[in-house]
Amino acid sequence: MYSASRPLIELNVRRFVSEIEGIDIRSHCQFVDYVFDEGSSSVTGVIIRGENGEATELTADLVVDATGRASRTPKWLDEHGFQSPTVEEVHVDVAYSTTLVRRPWDDRRAIITTPDPPRTRGGSAFPVEGDRWLVNIHGMLGDHPPTDRDGFEEFASSLPIPHLTEILTEHEWISEEIEYYPFPSHRRHYYEELDEFPDRLVVLGDAIASYNPIFGQGMSVAALEALQLHHSLANAPHETLALDFFARAETAVDPAWMVATGSDLRFDGTEGEKPRGTDLSNWYLSRLLRKAHTDSSLVEAFIGVVTMEKPPSSLFRPSIAWRVLTPGD
Ligand SMILES: Cc1cc2nc3c(=O)[nH]c(=O)nc-3n(C[C@H](O)[C@H](O)[C@H](O)COP(=O)(O)OP(=O)(O)OC[C@H]3O[C@@H](n4cnc5c(N)ncnc54)[C@H](O)[C@@H]3O)c2cc1C
Repeated sequence: MYSASRPLIELNVRRFVSEIEGIDIRSHCQFVDYVFDEGSSSVTGVIIRGENGEATELTADLVVDATGRASRTPKWLDEHGFQSPTVEEVHVDVAYSTTLVRRPWDDRRAIITTPDPPRTRGGSAFPVEGDRWLVNIHGMLGDHPPTDRDGFEEFASSLPIPHLTEILTEHEWISEEIEYYPFPSHRRHYYEELDEFPDRLVVLGDAIASYNPIFGQGMSVAALEALQLHHSLANAPHETLALDFFARAETAVDPAWMVATGSDLRFDGTEGEKPRGTDLSNWYLSRLLRKAHTDSSLVEAFIGVVTMEKPPSSLFRPSIAWRVLTPGD
């Protein structure tokens, strides 16, 4: 798999986007409010505030809220007499500690071990640009990782594989700096269930749903939603654009939500509603993973779902199911 640090991904996205004709990037400014035409129930622009604190109004044919998990659209809808979406949360109380370690240029191993009940700890090392490994340790349900070097190494040594300890002790740390990132809950806004929505406004990405980062799905879901927005813009009239888009976006959100929350709900301490069939699909999935150790077709099928190139239902195809369900380990 190809791995890169978030700054490198964002730099490249920014470069590509800035080269598209007609796109104007305004840096260092904050979105503060929507401009709203009361009469037509339509968003007609946004108010932004620049570094100097001055507010400016930008008019727009379409406003896309991509402000992430902290999106203020639900509150704004409420304040303007619209129904706001139902919110579902699955509390996992996970936290990440991450550091960078020097990597021999030809060692491109990616190491991942995820929490598995009752073990609440996991870790990973991804080969990223600049001949470095991005080494991460994480713990769920309050079992948070430390942010000092000794504690980091000790936590890594408690994982069921030795590889992270090897990387941390046999290779030079780029710095002693350890980034800490807490993530309390998966959170989903059910925009697709709304009967009405302001005209000329849509919401996408983490602002619709954000998932435990262990599963690495957020960017893929956001990209799939952007593609669905493209289809909505091509097909739906502007009065129903948002509802058309939310219905399409659900096809990207649902599988990611099912995989991520379903897996985390295997832990007794996770707080959230367990959809029907979760226990059975988790049993099936853990059997599939065990068998994948000796069956490359199962590895391929699983990676296809994890990378969101295939829907989770593809794991239940007869050609996969018989490999999973035949007796033996
Ligand atoms: C530790 C961690 C690891 C992850 N790893 C992966 C991974 O490996 N693969 C993957 O696919 N996903 C991963 N994700 C998830 C991924 O980062 C998110 O799903 C993705 O960034 C969502 O994109 P977004 O544009 O919707 O929101 P964001 O990336 O959160 O972007 C929102 C932007 O809006 C800006 N903003 C917010 N409010 C305002 C405002 N009022 N005015 C102006 N700007 C504003 C914010 O500053 C931010 O830049 C990870 C997340 C975390 C936390």
